[in-house]
Amino acid sequence: MLYHSTNNPSYRVDLKEAILRSLPPDNGLYMPDSLSVLGDEFWKIWRHLSFQEIGFAVADAFFGSDVPPDALREMVEGTLTFDAPLVTLGPGDHVLELFHGPTLAFKDFGARFMARLMAWLTRGDDRMLTVLVATSGDTGGAVASAFHNVPGTRVVILYPKGKVSGLQEKQLTALGGNITALEVDGSFDDCQALVKSAFLDRELSANLNLTSANSINLARLAPQAFYYIHAARQLPEGVPPVFVVPSGNFGNLTAGLLAMRLGLPVAHFVAATNLNDVVPEFLRTGTYTPRPSTATISNAMDVGAPSNFVRMQALFGGSWEDMKSRINGMWFDDDQTRAAIREVKSIHDYEIDPHGAIGWLAARAWRAQHPCSSTITLETAHPAKFPDVMEVELGPGAVEVPERLAVLASREKVAIPMTTDKTAFREWLVDM
Ligand SMILES: *Cc1c(COP(=O)(O)O)cnc(C)c1O
Repeated sequence: MLYHSTNNPSYRVDLKEAILRSLPPDNGLYMPDSLSVLGDEFWKIWRHLSFQEIGFAVADAFFGSDVPPDALREMVEGTLTFDAPLVTLGPGDHVLELFHGPTLAFKDFGARFMARLMAWLTRGDDRMLTVLVATSGDTGGAVASAFHNVPGTRVVILYPKGKVSGLQEKQLTALGGNITALEVDGSFDDCQALVKSAFLDRELSANLNLTSANSINLARLAPQAFYYIHAARQLPEGVPPVFVVPSGNFGNLTAGLLAMRLGLPVAHFVAATNLNDVVPEFLRTGTYTPRPSTATISNAMDVGAPSNFVRMQALFGGSWEDMKSRINGMWFDDDQTRAAIREVKSIHDYEIDPHGAIGWLAARAWRAQHPCSSTITLETAHPAKFPDVMEVELGPGAVEVPERLAVLASREKVAIPMTTDKTAFREWLVDM
């Protein structure tokens, strides 16, 4: 299959270029040229398939023309070593727990699959692949865990000093081996600017064999479509779900749209955000106004210029009417988020994290307007990742900390200090 740029449908590249170079030179994003629906064969039996079998069918639709079935099956099985259970809180009120992976956020699905696909695409290539990633929190940990000890690769993570939580920082800095963390004396935007400067430097990018692990990379989106289908089949037959997606860069929601493209019956999507509401605003008014992000307690969604918005537009042929007929937007502030965390605990005895809490509020608002609908809220991270917020709302010790997170507390942080100076960063990369 070929992949084209959202800015120019006639600019086409093959899978290897789309995944390893990550970004078309015209600043668009890559989209599959001809994603066809999964066949009747699949939709006859999909409710009885395992998570892995569903994953294989989806991966095959995306990558089957380039990757042989055995290799693809291995990638899917290596990715899906944990489940995504659907939990029912009340009538029509379902939560899809996407935090059972090694770093306790949904980004494990995308990062683990991407690491495997990249390893396959570079097999037999004796050049080291250098993965660059800027993170505001969860992405870096998921990518570090996914690539840790993968031969032929090294990962450089840039994170803003003092702006990620203590546990998130340990997830980035305590692995060692082929993972290097750079603690940048600046903001997340500064980290992104450094990464971008490296990619725009064609000579550097080619010499170091640089690739991106941010959600601009298509390899991260495809595996996120797996769990939409896995979730929908857990509802009774004939009940197409309303998916409520807590969103920042809108990769997760785009993956849901791709699942619908593959033929999944979906009643509707709700894009739930915090104060950073550029997409809800667009859905309401038809005007898209990206702006600098505002800090909130659902920090993984603090995005003012969501990169996957262009993919959403492409999927609706640029039509605002079509997009708003399938997606509603809603946003909630920090006070509402905190109240929701307390409410979900007191009504359902369930600890929901600040990102999922925004989804839960949106789902409740949707069901109030559409009483017969079944909502599936994507719970994007484990509440234990946000002890500061959870302890204030629910009291100390209210959230049990999973072992794989607890062990990080005693690990040593190793990070290299970096300024926001592009020349210094370039020199560091060259000498690495
Ligand atoms: C990354 C992240 C999000 C936002 O996902 P997008 O795909 O960027 O919209 C939401 N919640 C959590 C916990 C995240 O880590």
